[in-house]
Amino acid sequence: MLPRDKSDTTSSKSPTSKPEHSAGLDTPIQFVKGVGPKLGAVFNSRDISTVRDLFQFFPRGYEDRSQSKNIEGLQDGVKATLTVRVLGSRSIPIQKLGRSLFEVRCTDLASSGTLSLKWFHMPRGLDRRMISGTQFVVTGKVKDFQGRKEIVHPEITWGTVLEEAKVEGNSANVGRIVPIYVELEGVPSRTLRKVLWEALEKFGHEVPEDLPTHLTARHGLPSAAAAVRALHFPPEEVGTDLNALIEFDTPAHRRLIYDEFFKFEYLMLRQKLNVERSSALAFGHQGGVDGVKGLISEMPFKLTRGQLNAIREVLDDLKQPHPMNRLVQGDVGSGKTAVAFLTAACVIAEGDQVALMAPTEILAEQHFFNLKKLWGEKIPAVLLTGKATTAERNRVLKQLSAGQPLLVIGTHALLEDWLVFPNLSYVLIDEQHRFGVEQRRILRNKGSRVDPASGKSILPHSLILTATPIPRTLALTAFADLMVSTISELPPGRSPIKTRVVRDASQRTQAYDLIRNELAQGRQAYFIFPLVNDSEAEGFTHLKSAVAQAEHLAQEIFPGYRVGLLHGQMRPEQKAVVMEQFKLGEVKVLVSTTVVEVGVDVPNATVIAIEHAERFGLSQLHQLRGRVGRGQHQSYCLLFAAQARGGTVGERLDVLEQTQDGFKIAEADLEIRGPGEFLGTRQAGSLPFRLGNLVRDRDLLVQARDDAMQVIKDDPDLKDAANRSLKDYFIREGEKQFGRLGTF
Ligand code: ADP
Ligand code: MG
Repeated sequence: MLPRDKSDTTSSKSPTSKPEHSAGLDTPIQFVKGVGPKLGAVFNSRDISTVRDLFQFFPRGYEDRSQSKNIEGLQDGVKATLTVRVLGSRSIPIQKLGRSLFEVRCTDLASSGTLSLKWFHMPRGLDRRMISGTQFVVTGKVKDFQGRKEIVHPEITWGTVLEEAKVEGNSANVGRIVPIYVELEGVPSRTLRKVLWEALEKFGHEVPEDLPTHLTARHGLPSAAAAVRALHFPPEEVGTDLNALIEFDTPAHRRLIYDEFFKFEYLMLRQKLNVERSSALAFGHQGGVDGVKGLISEMPFKLTRGQLNAIREVLDDLKQPHPMNRLVQGDVGSGKTAVAFLTAACVIAEGDQVALMAPTEILAEQHFFNLKKLWGEKIPAVLLTGKATTAERNRVLKQLSAGQPLLVIGTHALLEDWLVFPNLSYVLIDEQHRFGVEQRRILRNKGSRVDPASGKSILPHSLILTATPIPRTLALTAFADLMVSTISELPPGRSPIKTRVVRDASQRTQAYDLIRNELAQGRQAYFIFPLVNDSEAEGFTHLKSAVAQAEHLAQEIFPGYRVGLLHGQMRPEQKAVVMEQFKLGEVKVLVSTTVVEVGVDVPNATVIAIEHAERFGLSQLHQLRGRVGRGQHQSYCLLFAAQARGGTVGERLDVLEQTQDGFKIAEADLEIRGPGEFLGTRQAGSLPFRLGNLVRDRDLLVQARDDAMQVIKDDPDLKDAANRSLKDYFIREGEKQFGRLGTF
């Protein structure tokens, strides 16, 4: 049991008026001592409704209040905690504010100097407590005001003296390293600490051990109960190592981080197991694979080893009577589309339907035309985008509902209700990060049905493609239920793109010269402007600036060359016209927002200049850069960046100058920007880690993953008594957790 907090006894309300609850960790938060209905509502609004939830309200940091300072040694701007004795107090009227300032002058126990405590909003009754000679502990940021030390609106802990608190280790708020919580509206930190202290004292021992002890013991990790307690109120021996605490690197932190990683991995792997155990139609046993080989032999280029591997892996999956759930990752230009087409061909050859969804019309069209160019009518395909007329829609629908084997290439239009696929057995999603979980699920659901032959319910196979390499830690988390194929090389004959960060005016002049030089040699260039925010709608402000810049570039910088403009708010026909002009080489400079990020393929373009490069994620810049370097000419990427203030912007972009390795860039991006870049904000938000950090705690993640895999292998149905606690946990919380995670 935690020792009782003496300082609390004076201020706490009588608990007798509250009903006695024996619900343990399920005790509603408002019945925790010191909470009540009002504070309870604040907690509830943060999804904290029980003691169990409260314990999960982990500190975001810590502050050392174990040592008392002398006033003499206090430094300007530094937060300090010290025991003081009141010398006197007064109210100073401030005309401007129409109220008064309350000032308390005090000294420390060694009388080393004087300190002013000031309140612009004095808490009721404070003046009556500030009697000369009173001692208490004060915490706050020290300021030097006209040569005198002061703290404005300090935090006060009554009824204790730091020196005493330290000896007895008996306070939530002083005499120790104290936890810092995320601020809750109108609730002082000290109140949060007290509430947690009380709750831990009463219920801390009830925190269950969810993980098998054979795992925690092997890793030398403390029990869950001990860890929860130590995380909120670090014991003395840990409490001396503030750095370890701040870096979440104490045994308690590691235990709870491992805990959440393990549970997550276990859930994901179970989910994967469930999918693997469900049914799908198998393809490739009736000549489909030979058909694919035939198509490969007709291609004008040789597939890379990586492409062939990926194709083989997918075809092997398709042969199984269980749904494939696979991700193909490969850098921009690595030729993922060929993998998609050729594997789709196998399913179509054996009589079923396939859907390929791309994030933009430009991309869907390009896929469609490339398919035609490569194989003509040998892979029956239709294009379906938002542009399709009613007649076209009806025709597609008719073909599909007649059960014709067909590859439907399209945009979000594929998700519309009217589009039904009676035989949809394979679903492909290009540029997965551009879609939400829900959209992928909708498309997949169009293929889930009852197989008339066997009467079993079946799911389609699913393949997602991404040009943003998934850092390993994410592959283990958000994508843990996927198999991964990696295409690690580019087709031969592509020379590395020279990348330069352009920081000042003279560099900009040089950059323009370089572009003019390329244009003079008949090459073409992209100019990219960012979106204001990363929502799907394009920001208006920058849209305007792209428009304005197109003018400027045409008239001032590149007179004599035709400049075209492309942005997301243009009508599809307009976009198509501009794209066509650029492809044909009529437009020499294409000013665009990030609509060209994915898929545009113009080999004669050798320069991509990106304005406000500092606003983009590194992986996104890397993808944009992949628009050039597609022909035989040397290509360039120019990153215009605003002058870096902190220096970090510059460093970030330097990664792009130094490497073309999408994986390295992705890792750097994950460190700098977190998982949102790879998952889309919604998915990233659904990673349920409160303590764990994918970058910092990578070792624990890998360990947890390996352990979860081992448990599933050794004891898939958790029958072993040694795994009893884990089973209890999933019976208790599994459903809830599954619901939250969804499928990625
Ligand atoms: P991404 O992986 O970025 O989707 P694409 O599939 O769009 O790449 O391929 C980029 C370009 O490279 C396309 O023009 C495609 O036809 C071409 N390509 C694909 N594979 C090869 C290869 N093995 N050899 C030469 N060119 C290829
Ligand atoms: Mg692609």
